[in-house]
Amino acid sequence: MTAQRRAVIEVIQTANEHLDAAALLDLARNREPGIDRATVYRTIELLKRLRLIDELDLMHLQGEKHYYEVKTRRDHVHLACFRCGRIEEYSSPLFEQLKAEITEQAGFEIRVTRLEVGGNCHACAEAEKKAQREASAKPR
Ligand SMILES: [Zn+2]
Ligand SMILES: [Zn+2]
Repeated sequence: MTAQRRAVIEVIQTANEHLDAAALLDLARNREPGIDRATVYRTIELLKRLRLIDELDLMHLQGEKHYYEVKTRRDHVHLACFRCGRIEEYSSPLFEQLKAEITEQAGFEIRVTRLEVGGNCHACAEAEKKAQREASAKPR
């Protein structure tokens, strides 16, 4: 494994948000200044093939960008807020149950699971409710 590849992997592993290829390249450059786009894309493809990372589109909030995250033992649902763009991760035993049921009922051997939910995050839902209350309380 080359130092450049290792830099890409480390960036994905230590990220505390979902990174797209451009953000990945920027952060990898801090570690390995000589790294180029092609290396980043090749490394992403390799890590995907090895099933070490997942590729997400996160409801296409930012157009056609794809995001990458290290595969965790526990699958999670991505909650994407259409209003502020926040991405939350949500895991539930029910999600694990659903996967088990699919395998049992459909005989399907699951390798990748991806579930994205789009809408308003808690803060945005509250803000919209408040705005509506204020609008309806206004005297005409
Ligand atoms: Zn929001
Ligand atoms: Zn995630």
